[in-house]
Amino acid sequence: MNSICVFCGSSPGVLPAYAEAASKLGRTLADMEIDLVYGGAGVGLMGILAETVLAAGGHVTGVIPRALAEREIALPRLDDLRVVESMHERKALMAELSDGFIALPGGIGTIEEFVEVLTWAQLGIHRKPCGLLNICGYYDQFLGFFDHMAGQGFLSRESRETVLVDDDPELLLMRMNLSRPPAVDKAAWALGMSGT
Ligand code: AMP
Repeated sequence: MNSICVFCGSSPGVLPAYAEAASKLGRTLADMEIDLVYGGAGVGLMGILAETVLAAGGHVTGVIPRALAEREIALPRLDDLRVVESMHERKALMAELSDGFIALPGGIGTIEEFVEVLTWAQLGIHRKPCGLLNICGYYDQFLGFFDHMAGQGFLSRESRETVLVDDDPELLLMRMNLSRPPAVDKAAWALGMSGT
């Protein structure tokens, strides 16, 4: 993997462990020479992550909608800032530029972005690994809901298992390196034609 797209909170969150995890992920990406692709902002965990990668000598690409960039939310010292016209364009470009996706703790924006890349994996639009950094159990209930979806027949077991989970950035990246989401035939599964 040459580049990873990270979704994370535009707020720092309550626990210091969230900011520490963003810094640790940033240092790990720089050490492993994996470029960071992210939303381009200088706020919250997003800013902490990008600043850490830059300080450690890594490469960061920010992809930000014009409206946010104009409100001077963009991180000023980014070496590669792509300004796009809409949130849809932003997500498409971030996905295109990346070999995998990670979500750190975050709010609605983070969840929406991560679920969209999972949806695309489920439909076979990409086969890039998707990992959750579950810091201090932040995503336990989210993962529990995925199990509920699978148990109730709305999510295939195969798609459920494509979500890689760890609390350590290096271990998560190593697992992502070894994994590719399967080519799932969602339509066949939905029609009950697959055993998963
Ligand atoms: P949230 O998890 O709700 O804080 O939203 C974080 C995600 O939404 C990020 O991954 C960004 O793509 C986007 N986002 C939210 N707020 C901002 C902001 N102030 N500047 C840039 N992107 C943002």
